[in-house]
Amino acid sequence: MPMMKAAVFVEPGRIVLDDKPIPDVGPQDALLRVTTTTICGTDVHILKGEYPVARGLTIGHEPVGVIEKLGSAVKGYREGQRVIAGAITPSGWSNACQCGFCAQDGAGSAHGWKPMGGWRFGNTIDGCQAEYVLVPDAMFNLAPVPDGLSDEAVLMCPDIMSTGFAGAESAHIRIGDAVAVFAQGPIGLCATAGAKLSGASLVIGVDRLPERLEMARRMGADVVVDAGKVDPVSEILRLTGGRGVDAAIEALGTQATFEAALRVLRPGGTLSSLGVYSTDLRIPLDAFAAGLGDHRIVTSLCPGGKERMRRLMAVIEAGRVDLGAMVTHRFRLDDIEAAYELFGHQRDGVLKVAVTP
Ligand SMILES: [Zn+2]
Repeated sequence: MPMMKAAVFVEPGRIVLDDKPIPDVGPQDALLRVTTTTICGTDVHILKGEYPVARGLTIGHEPVGVIEKLGSAVKGYREGQRVIAGAITPSGWSNACQCGFCAQDGAGSAHGWKPMGGWRFGNTIDGCQAEYVLVPDAMFNLAPVPDGLSDEAVLMCPDIMSTGFAGAESAHIRIGDAVAVFAQGPIGLCATAGAKLSGASLVIGVDRLPERLEMARRMGADVVVDAGKVDPVSEILRLTGGRGVDAAIEALGTQATFEAALRVLRPGGTLSSLGVYSTDLRIPLDAFAAGLGDHRIVTSLCPGGKERMRRLMAVIEAGRVDLGAMVTHRFRLDDIEAAYELFGHQRDGVLKVAVTP
């Protein structure tokens, strides 16, 4: 049986490189030879045991690769083609997909609807921190990479860019809006870039790390606020002449940032939440205007599917944004345990790592 290297979850605290069989290709699948992938903050949650996955599962949900083998029913692609697939690989046929929320793919049951069902790589099926990955429902999910774009240029498309931009899109930013983005990690940085591209005339990036605030400026923040030095709520209200922002994007997943995002909204403003929360949220009565502030609170999970990926790559090909700058470190797949060590502890100013099998 032909074997491959793969980064597998063993137990909380341990993701190790192991040998696994190269998967068989079903009729609707495509087998990719992974050429570049990366590590997501979610993978670190998995490593720490904060998000449970099955023992022995291959981790990773951000693949760039080459089609090695196509399933017998897959049309419109050729072997040897360079492609990406989204972190979210929807089926296309479920009720959630048909309602336009493919990330929430998955059948409902008598117990109700299960969220996040479109997220399969490194969650419910083997992921892409490996030499090969099997892409399910290939015709819904494979997006060819334009010739002129390097692997690293499109490495943010499957997850970080799709998610960050969704934060701006779900906020329905209009030309001339003022937008605050809380936390400038990889997703917050993409939300900052998305807000700028959406036509915001004032984009405020909030973080505590100097290198992230610096990168926020490169990604389109007009003003950066160091939350370690000033109170971001009063500073943002000052910057907007007391009006508040039209949209606040939360990209960390904490009570403090969620609450601050709510407190800086103008009347009728939108809180667009991207963070992954690990405890119940409390909504303070005053910040929520007792439920009478005409606020909108929206959440987004990374949109997937090949049309989404095509559009994101078109943005990069057109030179509207350069997210390749976010790749700060490079590792071979053989050294992925070291990559987790660096990325998991946010050492050495790391934003994103490129991992090449
Ligand atoms: Zn992710």
